[in-house]
Amino acid sequence: MIKNNIKVYNSLTNKVEDFVPLKENEISMYVCGPTVYNHMHIGNARPVIFFDTVKRFFEYIGYKVTMVSNFTDIDDKIIKKAIEENTTEEQISEKYIQAYLDACDKIGCCKDVIHPRVTENINEIIDFINRLIQTSHAYQNGDDVYFDVNNISEYGVLSNQKLEKLESGSRVDINQNKKNPADFTLWKKTNDIGKKWPSPFGLGRPGWHTECVVMIDKIFGSKIDIHGGGNDLKFPHHENEIAQSIALHQHMIANYWIHNARIDLSGEKMSKSLGNVIWLKDIITKYPPQAYRLFVLSNHYRQTINYTDELMQKMAIEWEKFANTYRSLYRKIELSNVSFNGQVIDLMNDFLKEMAFDFNTANALSVLYTLQKKINKDLRNKECTLDELKDDFKTLQDMFSIFGLYVLIDPLTEKEKTLVANWQLARENKDFATADMLRAKITEMGIKL
Ligand SMILES: [Zn+2]
Repeated sequence: MIKNNIKVYNSLTNKVEDFVPLKENEISMYVCGPTVYNHMHIGNARPVIFFDTVKRFFEYIGYKVTMVSNFTDIDDKIIKKAIEENTTEEQISEKYIQAYLDACDKIGCCKDVIHPRVTENINEIIDFINRLIQTSHAYQNGDDVYFDVNNISEYGVLSNQKLEKLESGSRVDINQNKKNPADFTLWKKTNDIGKKWPSPFGLGRPGWHTECVVMIDKIFGSKIDIHGGGNDLKFPHHENEIAQSIALHQHMIANYWIHNARIDLSGEKMSKSLGNVIWLKDIITKYPPQAYRLFVLSNHYRQTINYTDELMQKMAIEWEKFANTYRSLYRKIELSNVSFNGQVIDLMNDFLKEMAFDFNTANALSVLYTLQKKINKDLRNKECTLDELKDDFKTLQDMFSIFGLYVLIDPLTEKEKTLVANWQLARENKDFATADMLRAKITEMGIKL
């Protein structure tokens, strides 16, 4: 059974491990969400698509998945943008939360995902910091409250770094008020123009690293199965999340830490501050959203993808071929006026096996290609029974649903849509000769009007 045979590469141990969930038929999953001061670029969308596919796979094999992904709706970047655009931080974050949800909807993501916001969890964050101070894991010095990394023997466990190295390295900022340069800010006291809250440590704002730990506490109440995010979050963000959890709960938040690699642009790291980014909203306007999903899923999630227009165009063509196979099969069954109920064929098991071995979407995609070839052959084969075609269709639907492709399919091609629109127009204009001619053409193509 696939369910008892799942392997996951755990970033915490750097090993492929057997996946055993905490509860028998449920999975708890948390993926760090965006700081909402701008649109998503295609690199930001990679974890969104990948973890959505992981969720779909788990649901397909019978798990109930609770997935949480936060919105960081308070941050210096949001304040800066609000000043620039002469508006409020709420308006900026609301605008980009909506933009994020719209984009997710278009790429078939975020269905049933819980999205807590920092500004709705300030009391819980303050309470959490208070407990860290009471247990001597945090201290206030100067204006700010810091986490004391020296009190945690496991600090560096995720990113495989030794504290001594961090102390002398340049990756942590030097601050006179910190006991150790690796100590990180939990609360920042401030009197600036940005949004701030009263607290026992003074008027201010929480640091970034506490929100996820607090939200996981609040929503799940204990240790979870999977904590995910992009590789770039490993250090310091996830390391610091783990440190806080060890301090108060003596565990590492999740049994499995899963990190996806980045998407580069012409061999270089994409960065909003450098300006070399491609926005997701532009890509899914130019190409079908499914083509972008295929682009992401055609690579193993732990492999860096190098984005090029050529590669994206290729995926758009591949998607169109898949969609055409789907449409042809759909019409063949639809025209025979029988039910669509079929059974999955053996290839489905191959597909699930690839997904079960560390979510190898690249290999699963090659099974999908094999299925496509088989279907196209079956469609040409006059001997092929309707029952066989129905089984093909059911299998294609199921693979599409795990990859998040099926829900987004348009039953007609652009050319066909134009034809139908012209037929409607001719009817409205009472040009029955043209309407009849178009109708015959449309019916011949296997489209039901
Ligand atoms: Zn986080």
